[in-house]
Amino acid sequence: MQTRFFIDTHTHTYLEEFDADRAAMVKRSVDANVAKVLLPNIDLDSIAQVNRMMDEYPDYAYGMMGLHPCSVKENYQEVLNELYRQFSLRNYYGVGEIGLDLYWDTRFFEQQKDAFRQQLQWAKELGLPVSIHTREATEQAIDMVSDLQDGRLKGVFHCFGSTVEHGKKIADLGMNIGIGGVVTYKKSNLIEVLKELGLNNAVLETDAPYLSPIPYRGKRNESAWVSVIAQFIADALEMSVDDVNHICTQNSKEVFFRSIGE
Ligand SMILES: [Zn+2]
Repeated sequence: MQTRFFIDTHTHTYLEEFDADRAAMVKRSVDANVAKVLLPNIDLDSIAQVNRMMDEYPDYAYGMMGLHPCSVKENYQEVLNELYRQFSLRNYYGVGEIGLDLYWDTRFFEQQKDAFRQQLQWAKELGLPVSIHTREATEQAIDMVSDLQDGRLKGVFHCFGSTVEHGKKIADLGMNIGIGGVVTYKKSNLIEVLKELGLNNAVLETDAPYLSPIPYRGKRNESAWVSVIAQFIADALEMSVDDVNHICTQNSKEVFFRSIGE
């Protein structure tokens, strides 16, 4: 039994980059068999955008709530309190996007760690999966998840771009890796990593509007192209795209939709 549809497990198509043609973009993705997308929040300003897209596309758009590490500043505790309150206002399908980023700004790293820790605790309390962003801090993020893992944490290291060793540690923690457009880039070693690890812990994502797969690199990314990513992985691993999709969609359902029985 093959899974015909894709799940884009990490996409920001609620952003203003899509305001002019969101309906057409969603239709293109549905035509490409993308049945569901997960929308990680960024900061206080994006809450209304995530909510609006969930309202406009029920059964397609599933929001998450959280504070992106690049948005952690002096006032992060106030922001976290307000974000946490959102969980009492409506159903979200994950805590995200959370994590650690030493690439863009290192000034608030201590605050980032605290925000990450608190949000991992929310996930445990609320029984929700996490969508984790790491940049130049994968090791630290794995260590923090490891410290807090008591069997209740599940989720995805989104846009995974690290080593086999890190991939194995993530799998050992019962977590998944998110594979996006970067896998198609010539400099990426991700296919080598996937050959080693297999797809047992992999889920597909676009991270739209960023990181478009080849041949669309440099253009605005969109959820339809999760199918391009799946096809690339299938060719590189000498599998059928249906098999790649079947495995990754099962993994995605297990992580994000088990609680709603889909
Ligand atoms: Zn993201």
